[in-house]
This record gives sequence, C-alpha cells and structure tokens, in this order.
Amino acid sequence: MTDMPNWMREQLHGHYAQSLTVDKLLYDSETDHQRLRVFENGTFGRVLTLDDVIQTTEGDNFIYHEMLTHVPILAHGAAKRVCIVGGGDGGMAREVLKHTSVDHVTMVEIDAGVVEFSKEYLPMLSQGAFDDPRLDLVIADGAEYMKTTQGGYDVIIVDSTDPIGPGEVLFTDTFYGHAKRALTPGGILVTQNGVPFLQGDELTNTMRAFKALFADATCYMATVPTYAGGPMAFGWGTDGDARAVPLEILQQRFADAGITTDYYTPEVHKAAFALPRYVLNLMP
Ligand code: SAM
Repeated sequence: MTDMPNWMREQLHGHYAQSLTVDKLLYDSETDHQRLRVFENGTFGRVLTLDDVIQTTEGDNFIYHEMLTHVPILAHGAAKRVCIVGGGDGGMAREVLKHTSVDHVTMVEIDAGVVEFSKEYLPMLSQGAFDDPRLDLVIADGAEYMKTTQGGYDVIIVDSTDPIGPGEVLFTDTFYGHAKRALTPGGILVTQNGVPFLQGDELTNTMRAFKALFADATCYMATVPTYAGGPMAFGWGTDGDARAVPLEILQQRFADAGITTDYYTPEVHKAAFALPRYVLNLMP
C-alpha cells in the first residue's frame, strides 16, 4: 500500500482492510490521546479518523447516530436526562437534542481536541449542538466519570472508539456496572459494539456482562458502510420492558417528537432487533 500515497488504509483485522482516497487532507495532528485526521473523500465527504481508524463520515454518520439515539429514546418514551460517553464529534448530541422532551444531556468525552477540532472542521456533524444550553460537556474519562456520578440518566449512550487505546475501559464489566447504577429505574444503556462478523468477541464480551446486569440484554443492528464487514451491533441493556413497546406506540411517539430522520423509522426500529443466526450464536 505504500505505493498508494493518496489512499488511507484502515486495517482492523489481520486479513482484511478498507481503503478510502484522501482527496484532500484537511487536518493531521497528534492530540494528547490519539492521532487525529480529517480528509475529504469523493464518496463519503469529510472523514474523521483517530489512530487511522474511521470514526465517522459526513456521508454515512446519520445511520449510526440515529440508531444509537432514537431507538432507546423512543423506546423509553419519557427520557429527560441522557448521558453520551465519548461522542466528541457532536453527531450523537445533535440527534439527542432533536428531542425537545430531553432537558439535559451530559456528554463525557476524554479528548477535548476531538471536540474543538470537530467544531471547526466537521460543523455539519454537530450542527450547533455544542451551543445548546441543555448540553453539559465534561472533558473526562467516561469510566472515571461513571464511577462517581450521581447519575439519574434515563438513557446512556456509549459512542466510543473500539476497545483499543482510551476506549478499552468502556468495554469492561466494571464500567457497565457503574453505568447501570447511573440509570433511573427502567433506564436504557446502549453501546456501539463493532461489526460482529469481524469483531465477534467484542459483542460476546459485552453481552456476557449485560446478561449478568440487566433483565433485558440483547443487541440490535444496522449497516453503516464505513464500518466495514457487515451490519454493526449496538448493545442494549435495561431492566424495563422498553424493547416490547408496540409498533403503534413507537409510531405515535415518533410523530409526537416531530423530528426528521434519514434512516430511523419505527418499523426499522422494531426490525433491527431481529438477529441473524451467526449473531445469536455469539450471544452467551
Ligand atoms: N462511532 C465511532 C466508531 O465506532 O468508530 C466512534 C465515534 S468517536 C466520536 C468516539 C469518541 O470516543 C472519540 O471522540 C474518543 O475520543 C472518545 N473516547 C474514547 N475513549 C474514551 C473514554 N475512555 N472516555 C470518554 N471518551 C472516550
């Protein structure tokens, strides 16, 4: 690949990689925590990478952000306090804040550099979310924060990097236990859990922890083109019965919320919990 200087190569696995053309490099620097790059790509628009792993793109981020936000919030039905762990690019905050019923969002991001830089180079992701008075931005390790927070969150969304580097602690049983303690009764924890076809262990480990903690522990799925290798999994843990909410109620809540989406629909929401056999086989 060294003879392809205009290609960015992401190799998360031994025998499989994906490459995107770097049509224009906009930013490249080392933060205190990771190497951060942004470039333009003809298919996906602006692309953010951390340590050469694609985090988000202008073109397909809507799928990931909408599914990690509207599924738990609309399933819950009365979420007022939401916590986002990670999420430095602001895309998750953008989707959560679409819900006028949400009156407080805590976003705990370890790397102030990602936030500052995203505001400047990826404003289309946050779309003003950082200026919303309902958002409280905390620059801290999400695992440390969860140890001590008073919590009271109806929904916690873990929008983390993969379990390497600073994101590793966000995949531990200890962190999940603290997150559960920070939920209100019936509250919902959702997590990004990678692409199970390639990262099966990641899902198995999270599901093992969730099953020990929650009455309802499963995952739901969506395909995000730049998270290559098939559909990705989102962990779902709650002691309530929000997963069973009937379609008609979701449709009513979605209409009442008055939000527009490009991927999420109540029908997709319900269908996303139907899991293929190879994924069920990864569940402990
Ligand atoms: N959706 C992307 C993916 O799956 O590749 C990840 C999105 S990116 C916004 C993830 C964010 O998590 C980064 O901004 C990173 O700095 C942050 N992060 C990583 N480890 C963290 C930790 N321990 N506490 C809080 N934020 C963390």
